[in-house]
Amino acid sequence: MEIETYIEAIMREIDPDNGEINRTPKRVAESYCEFFSGYNVDAIEIAGELYSSDMNDLVILKNIPFESHCEHHLVPIVGIATVGYLPDGKIIGASKLARLVDCFAHRLQLQERMTIEIGKALDVVLAPKGIGIYLEAEHFCIAHRGVKKPGVKLVTRYFSGELKNSLRQEFLAAALGK
Ligand SMILES: [Zn+2]
Repeated sequence: MEIETYIEAIMREIDPDNGEINRTPKRVAESYCEFFSGYNVDAIEIAGELYSSDMNDLVILKNIPFESHCEHHLVPIVGIATVGYLPDGKIIGASKLARLVDCFAHRLQLQERMTIEIGKALDVVLAPKGIGIYLEAEHFCIAHRGVKKPGVKLVTRYFSGELKNSLRQEFLAAALGK
C-alpha cells in the first residue's frame, strides 16, 4: 500500500535514528482506511428503505458523536451532531441519520462543508419539508497546535425549508437542551 511507504518516509524524516519503525507504517495505513472509509459510502444506499408516516412535527436525533479529520492539518475533529427534519409523508430509520453523519465525517473535512453535505444528502434521500443540522466540535489543530486553545468548539448549522424560519428555534432548543 502506498500510504505505508509515505508514512515510513515521514517517520524516518522525524526520527532518522529510530530502528524500531517495524509495523507502524502498516498500522497507520490501516487506521487511515478506517478514518477515511466515508469515500466508499453512498448516502442514498445508507438511507435504505423509507417509511410512510403521518408524523407532522420535528424528528430529531441529537448528540450523535462523530470523529473526523481536518483537511488542513490531518488531525482529528471530535464533536457531536444533531440532525433534524420535518417529514413530508416519509420518515427515515433513525440510525440512518447517524450513519449519514459518519459517511461525511469519515473523510478529510472542513466542518462547515460537512454540515452542508449532511443537510443536502438528507434532502436528496428524504425530501422533507425542512432540515436542521447542528454540529459542535473540538479541532485538534486549534486545541493542540498553533493558537492552542483546548476546549474551544466550532459551531456550524444548516437550515432548509421550514426550519429556516418558524421551526428554527425549536430545533435549536432541542439541539442545545440536555
Ligand atoms: Zn485544521
